[in-house]
Amino acid sequence: MALIVQKFGGTSVGSIDRIKNVARRCLKAQAEGNQVVVIVSAMSGETNRLLGLAHEVTKVPSAREMDAIAATGEQVAAGLTALAIEAEGGKARSLLGHQVRVLTDGAFTKARIRAIDHSKIQSTLEAGEIAVVAGFQGVDDDGNITTLGRGGSDTSAVAIAAAIQADACEIFTDVDGVYTTDPNVCPSARKIERISYEEMLELASLGAKVLQIRSVEIAMKYQVPVHVRSSFSDVPGTWVTGEDKSLEEVVVAGVAYDKNDARVHLVGVLDKPGVVAEVFSAIAEKNISVDMIIQNATSNTEGRADVTFTVSKTDLVRAKPFIEEVAAKVGASAVKYDDDIVKVSIVGLGMRSHAGVAAKMFKLLANEGINIQAISTSEIKVSCIVHQKYTELAVRTLHDGFGLAAPAAAP
Ligand code: ADP
Ligand code: ASP
Ligand code: MG
Repeated sequence: MALIVQKFGGTSVGSIDRIKNVARRCLKAQAEGNQVVVIVSAMSGETNRLLGLAHEVTKVPSAREMDAIAATGEQVAAGLTALAIEAEGGKARSLLGHQVRVLTDGAFTKARIRAIDHSKIQSTLEAGEIAVVAGFQGVDDDGNITTLGRGGSDTSAVAIAAAIQADACEIFTDVDGVYTTDPNVCPSARKIERISYEEMLELASLGAKVLQIRSVEIAMKYQVPVHVRSSFSDVPGTWVTGEDKSLEEVVVAGVAYDKNDARVHLVGVLDKPGVVAEVFSAIAEKNISVDMIIQNATSNTEGRADVTFTVSKTDLVRAKPFIEEVAAKVGASAVKYDDDIVKVSIVGLGMRSHAGVAAKMFKLLANEGINIQAISTSEIKVSCIVHQKYTELAVRTLHDGFGLAAPAAAP
């Protein structure tokens, strides 16, 4: 008997009919001799609606209350899914984060899982029932409801799969696997059969929201095989697994984009040792992560430099006062912000052993007249910041330019 975790995303539980479809899928898996744990997201659009309500009350709602509000989306979906399984003749029990007990730290809106007590899941399965767990939510040491950040149900699913040592973790979603790039932006995107944890981790952290980053980190750490597939069909999806030789032969496995960054430009700061350290220590102290950094010593004025960096748009709202405070301290003559940017990235294990990949990326973008505003690289990725109006053009150009397009269908 296998033990499987099946996670259904927002679109997959987006209506009562779809929830009934989920119930039938879980029952089918159970009838095939498996023990089944189901993780559900909130019905599509619900988390946005709930967070919108909070913002209607106040501009900057407290993170604790946002979590109390947002977690209800998954509570409703879990209850409805358990009911639907029973209505189809099965046996099921819904479990919320605090009932399972998914213990997290107290970082509201982006909590990290510390431990999972799976005895309730275990006893539910032993009673022959399907355990329907509300994704995205947990509880901290003080009993506060927490959430795991947007897309966090993926992380609930993989973490629970690791805790109960499931044989597989299936992520059912609205596309039938992980593609070479977002299929909703690039029509020639191709489904990938198998991708390494490392590549998936880069793609996820560079904007491919098909899996939340933390879920891939946990899958890699505990070697949980993850199968990303469609909740609307039975076709095999994509396996996210450990790397092997055949995966290393692929130079570029995928292209990702992220519109969530903003650029901050500190004009004319003092060009002397310790200045950059002072700026970024002040920002780090506030728990705000900085992505790309460029320092340009050739400013208009002698002894001055320009410092440019990117932070996430959500963090920027919170960060502006601190940035302006430290900018004044280091003598900046102005602070400028730019929201109209996108980060486009290429990812592939094969970059480790192939030269000239970055140069080819820059050339492809240049051929389309796309100006690059900032660059960052690591062992298996290259990212460029460009104007947001070029998002689709840049993604398609890089995707097809690196030979990722699906071959044209036979006439
Ligand atoms: P769910 O609600 O099931 O969690 P998400 O909306 O979070 O689904 O994630 C699925 C979406 O991820 C797809 O609809 C697609 O637009 C987007 N996506 C971005 N990059 C990729 C990629 N490389 N492969 C597949 N989907 C991707
Ligand atoms: N409902 C949450 C969100 O929209 C969590 C998830 O869907 O994974 O972000
Ligand atoms: Mg998701």
